[in-house]
Amino acid sequence: MPMKPTLKSWIPVDPSSDFPIQNLPFGIFTPPPSGEAGRGPLPRVGVAIGDQVLDLLELKKTGVFNALKFDTNVFAKSSLNDFISLGKKTTGAVRTRISKLLEERNPELRDNEMARKKVLHKMKDVQMHLPVEIGDYTDFYSSMEHARNVGTMFRDPANALLPNWKHLPVGYHGRASSIVVSGTDFHRPKGQTPTPELRSQPAVVPQGEEKQPDSPVAFGPTKQLDFELEMAFIIGKGTKLGESVSTKDAEDYIFGMCLFNDWSARDIQAWEYVPLGPFLGKNFCSSVSPWVVTMDALEPFRVAGPKQDPEVLPYLQYSGNKNYDINLEVCIQPETLNLKLGTTVVSRSNFKYMYWNMAQQLAHHTVNGCNIRTGDMMASGTISGATPDSFGSMLELTWKGTKPIKMSDGTERKFINDNDTVIMKGFAEKDGVRVGFGEVKGKVLPAA
Ligand code: CA
Repeated sequence: MPMKPTLKSWIPVDPSSDFPIQNLPFGIFTPPPSGEAGRGPLPRVGVAIGDQVLDLLELKKTGVFNALKFDTNVFAKSSLNDFISLGKKTTGAVRTRISKLLEERNPELRDNEMARKKVLHKMKDVQMHLPVEIGDYTDFYSSMEHARNVGTMFRDPANALLPNWKHLPVGYHGRASSIVVSGTDFHRPKGQTPTPELRSQPAVVPQGEEKQPDSPVAFGPTKQLDFELEMAFIIGKGTKLGESVSTKDAEDYIFGMCLFNDWSARDIQAWEYVPLGPFLGKNFCSSVSPWVVTMDALEPFRVAGPKQDPEVLPYLQYSGNKNYDINLEVCIQPETLNLKLGTTVVSRSNFKYMYWNMAQQLAHHTVNGCNIRTGDMMASGTISGATPDSFGSMLELTWKGTKPIKMSDGTERKFINDNDTVIMKGFAEKDGVRVGFGEVKGKVLPAA
């Protein structure tokens, strides 16, 4: 159930905060060391409220969840999988109980200073972790503007969308092991890239690159490192092999959402992707935001999706509003002494632009009997809008590097440089309530 816009917490929440009492997203965190001797605190489940984190492992000791009758050991785990596996009825009841506890007129915790000190941590002092153990990760390609831009650049502007695109949500199976939580830095990946220009000038081999004089390929750090602005949903309920999920039931299987950056090496990708699709150009790293915003919290922000023409097959048809109005933003922060000068917003987009919605993606994913498991992550694909300032990748924003972006520190970007930090943010807003995702950020270190 979404919570009333008028609801307020006794914990002060800044109007610009992503985490008012109407949000209450779940995540995994480690509290700061208490100073006591012995082993430091272990990761556990928490809920974001304002600039604080509510520690559910400590909170359960106060007995506030006793009436709900579930195994509260799920709060002592280093992933949300067991908590999510309790089912939406229970996880929803936990969220409702927390909302009651934090509501401004409730003295239960508000007036109990000793308990309050134990269960609340400053967000800036905790360490966040990957929220779920991700068994499988799928990445879709569901923004028409993105698919059209890429098709125009790499194939044929007159036939930018491939014939299948408007009939099924295109996707591929990605790599779960290299998905990292926001704030995890990574080294610029190396790989094979084609080198027509090197073939004509065999003497000029850029530093750090290995190449045989007659070879059509080179090996070295990618020169076209890119981000992809995406959102991901987390599976909350598994299916058996052979079962399918209908668009009507799909929402029962979706626990919540995160921000997602599908880092991509365009030169590696362009050389390898035919005929089987993305591989090393994608699987070196993907970054996800730490707080999982529940579908209950996002309920007020449902909107209609774009009209789908031609009509889709019956198993992909749906009724009701299945898109969500979520504002998205991408910034690049170069390594610079003046942080204020150094951050440049390079894109503003919105999740509502998606041509294929999550219910359709899930219905398609399972229509052949492919089973899904709790904790699986399904990413949207790059979310581009219709205008050039709303494109969700550098590939599109700079049109393959032909239109560099001016940065606020005076430098230019065609793609992402070493020591750049890419930050993505997202929030929905309505009736004076802002439900946000925080951010997903990652810094690109020089190739190892
Ligand atoms: Ca992608």
